[in-house]
Amino acid sequence: MNRERIISELREKSGEIWDIIIIGGGATGLGIALDSASRGYKTLLLEQSDFAKGTSSRSTKLVHGGVRYMAQGDLLLVMEALHERGLMLKNAPHLTFNQEFVIPIYTIWDAIMYTVGLKFYDILAGRLSLGRSYFINKAKTLSKLPLLKSEGLKGGVVYHDGQFDDSRFAIALAQSAAERGGIVLNYCRVNSLVKNEKGKICGVKATDEISGAEFNLSAKVVINATGVFADDIARMDNPASKPTIKPSQGVHIVLDRSFLQSNSAIMIPKTSDGRVLFAIPWYNEVVVGTTDTPVDEVSLEPVALEKEINFILKTAELYLVKPPRREDVLCVFAGLRPLAANPDNPESTKEVSRRHKITLSPSGLLSIVGGKWTTYRRMSEETIDKAVAAGFLRKEKCITSGLKLTKLSDNNIAGRLHIYGEKSAEIEKMIADSPELGAQVDLRLPYTKAEVIWICRNEMPVTIEDLLARRTRALLLNARASADAAPEVARIMAAEFGYDQNWQNTQVEAYKLLINKYI
Ligand SMILES: Cc1cc2nc3c(=O)[nH]c(=O)nc-3n(C[C@H](O)[C@H](O)[C@H](O)COP(=O)(O)OP(=O)(O)OC[C@H]3O[C@@H](n4cnc5c(N)ncnc54)[C@H](O)[C@@H]3O)c2cc1C
Repeated sequence: MNRERIISELREKSGEIWDIIIIGGGATGLGIALDSASRGYKTLLLEQSDFAKGTSSRSTKLVHGGVRYMAQGDLLLVMEALHERGLMLKNAPHLTFNQEFVIPIYTIWDAIMYTVGLKFYDILAGRLSLGRSYFINKAKTLSKLPLLKSEGLKGGVVYHDGQFDDSRFAIALAQSAAERGGIVLNYCRVNSLVKNEKGKICGVKATDEISGAEFNLSAKVVINATGVFADDIARMDNPASKPTIKPSQGVHIVLDRSFLQSNSAIMIPKTSDGRVLFAIPWYNEVVVGTTDTPVDEVSLEPVALEKEINFILKTAELYLVKPPRREDVLCVFAGLRPLAANPDNPESTKEVSRRHKITLSPSGLLSIVGGKWTTYRRMSEETIDKAVAAGFLRKEKCITSGLKLTKLSDNNIAGRLHIYGEKSAEIEKMIADSPELGAQVDLRLPYTKAEVIWICRNEMPVTIEDLLARRTRALLLNARASADAAPEVARIMAAEFGYDQNWQNTQVEAYKLLINKYI
């Protein structure tokens, strides 16, 4: 993953025909790139901003079947997702974890309903189950969750799901696709689709957002994996195409771990407005959310509404002994769910299925919308299978169900640097050779200068935001601390890439403006 090398390769290969061009570098597009490259197809992925800049870095960070979808009766989705959950934990053990959840129980009816329901959830997971579900009494519930309010509490139901680091997973997908010969390029925007004399799509026109260079690229098939932006690409194909996406905003807040003081997560299955609320330990903090607010405008930087933040704080206050206040919030982040619109009720989002939809337009644009992070692999497999079935590609077998990400073996996945998988040894060596690189970029953040350098050399960050928001999770863990670390991160990046003081100043200014949306 080296931008300069990729850009010059694109120039050199300007006359070549790619098997696949994928538009969009979130979970869906990157998953498709890995599936495609690992089947041996000549693969190019173009992302207009940074990898996972959109929804894919803003999830609840759950690798789950979806207890709520089971309650809605969508058993096929839950079974599919539980199977994929198991594969994600097997194939990326450095980025995904088995997380224990406790549902606080206040009535006998809820005790029966959730115990039985979650036992059924275990059965649906089959041999990929992460642990059995069971009822615990009030004392045991409070020993697992010491800061849960005890008033009216009858007990708890324990169950297991997966948890992960979404944007690091996205980077691992990008690395893995690149290791298998695919080309993944960030900051390269697709502006239009190219059609042949028969009106069939045969390529894209794209712009390198950094240098302004234009590319005219040919492909056997073009895949639209642009999440909430999918309708924009569909309109490039056919200006009269109907909306297929109903975006819905979900907000999370991040709090200090002292508000939970537990390794178990809390799941509130029904909040005052009928939603699910999670409080999940994540690194050294707690992620609490989410909301479900229909929106009309889509943006790469959606902003949380104050009423969404208040809703989360007020709901958390109902359950936690130490009520979180607005000033305790370390970060607020908002994401847009690319829900496939329900043609019968286009305004509703709560009841819209989280299933994905794959469509092929008359001119050959293959689009995938909806779905979940957890099901990215299956979505990718189905998309490529559809491209094969439509006759765009020769038939090759999908191998991703057993493919370890970034060629990971089972070594070197312990300790704080586990997120880098086997590469953590390289970072440890940098610190051993130059102990000053072991210093943190800010004392409130776990990240060292060595990691920043290693990321610059290996993971294609272009801006300091890429480094602070998605290669490390500094922005989400503590937005203000990340702003304080910004000048040092800019200095290190400038030294690595040969940028001047002016670049550093511009980057730091832009980052400080950005964090206002996260505090
Ligand atoms: C609040 C919230 C919580 C969630 N929690 C979970 C969870 O816990 N577990 C789970 O499994 N799922 C969860 N999801 C769902 C999951 O995050 C999404 O399904 C998934 O991230 C969507 O990925 P995507 O690649 O389709 O979209 P995106 O991540 O948005 O990627 C689309 C990309 O396309 C790019 N793009 C757009 N136009 C162009 C263009 N012209 N040229 C080039 N690139 C372009 C965009 O820049 C963007 O990066 C959650 C979603 C939300 C909103």
